[in-house]
Amino acid sequence: MSNKNEMDYSPDSIAASYSQRDKWLKSAPLPVVDPIYNASTYFLPSTAVGEAIIAEKQPGYVYSRIRNPTIDVCAEVIAQLEGAQGGTLLTSSGMAAISLVFLTFLKSGDHLVCQYPVDTHTIKLIEDLMMGNKVEVTWVDNNKMDAFEKAIRANTKMVFVESPCNPSITLQDLESLGKLAQRHPQLITMVDGTFASTYVQQPLKYGVHISMHSCTKYMGGHSDITAGCVSFTNKELYKKAQWYSTFLGPSLSPFDASLLHRSLKTLPVRMERHSINAMKIAKFLEQHSKVKVVHYPGLESHPQHNIAKSQMKMFGGMISFEVDGGKEAGIKLVESVQLISLAVSLGGTGSLIEHPASLTNTESLMDEEARKKCGVADGLVRLSVGLEDADDLIKDLTQALEKL
Ligand SMILES: *Cc1c(COP(=O)(O)O)cnc(C)c1O
Repeated sequence: MSNKNEMDYSPDSIAASYSQRDKWLKSAPLPVVDPIYNASTYFLPSTAVGEAIIAEKQPGYVYSRIRNPTIDVCAEVIAQLEGAQGGTLLTSSGMAAISLVFLTFLKSGDHLVCQYPVDTHTIKLIEDLMMGNKVEVTWVDNNKMDAFEKAIRANTKMVFVESPCNPSITLQDLESLGKLAQRHPQLITMVDGTFASTYVQQPLKYGVHISMHSCTKYMGGHSDITAGCVSFTNKELYKKAQWYSTFLGPSLSPFDASLLHRSLKTLPVRMERHSINAMKIAKFLEQHSKVKVVHYPGLESHPQHNIAKSQMKMFGGMISFEVDGGKEAGIKLVESVQLISLAVSLGGTGSLIEHPASLTNTESLMDEEARKKCGVADGLVRLSVGLEDADDLIKDLTQALEKL
């Protein structure tokens, strides 16, 4: 309803549908921060205009599951950061982004080549839903690109990798993946780059087709939203996924899109501090007598340190390390920290620690053999290094390690 109320509407009508749209249209305040449009639907000046917007013959909005201005602004920021010519879609979680891509591009009888391991829930999505839908899958359990290439068949539709990979912090060589994509033009290549964030690494610039992130992690960065994004190298892929997004309905809420947009403003400074802190802590852990091995791409001892240097702007905030004394010691450590919090997830301002064998890669999700294949030793601990003073974090880890 217009705010002029010339028809002298009843309080019921005013309560139900009053808005200040006329005032806004005439003298819109121009805020420096984009407003949150939490509307689910939009006034249409006429059916003809509505029809033209739906047919994409005219810009505008009709219904927020399809498009929303707050989401569009945030998606545009990510598209620019990713170098995504095709555009970016935002989703209500990282898993929603992966599901959207799989359901859009993989049909019964298609073949998927997937790195092993990837995120535990991605493994479950593929094993339960995609394989249940008769999508064929080949798991490739090492990081050599020729193993991926050997797995490609006539019906291979997609190659999916995660880099850095959870929880072993191994990397996938993105340049080789881009070259593989060039040699097999029928393939769609996709990278889950959640552990790095788009500031640290941009897969699309190597010729990869699709880049996704769980924005619940670094992109959101404050442990206060669940969100995902998926960016496409060309309009054709984007359009197809957007079409399915309209039906599957994984849209992000405008409020969460606004928080995500706000977070992106500090992504570069946050990633820089995460990386500086993580490097100090990785070096501290590497020389500690109770630590067997440290996995961090910034360490020269990381087997793929050279790949990290070539494709990552900095080395990020994710470390995993193995303590002496197996499961008991791993659990003792994560329960002994004080400044650091025992919690799953990652990428927030506060440091988080977890024990993969009992939480993210636990028995209810995978058996012993699968856990081994994922590089989850009993004493493995995963640390998401936050923005605290690195010396304080080292102090905390020192006292916790002393308890082992
Ligand atoms: C967290 C995570 C996901 C899933 O994202 P959600 O936002 O939790 O749905 C996927 N991949 C990786 C690497 C993750 O860390």
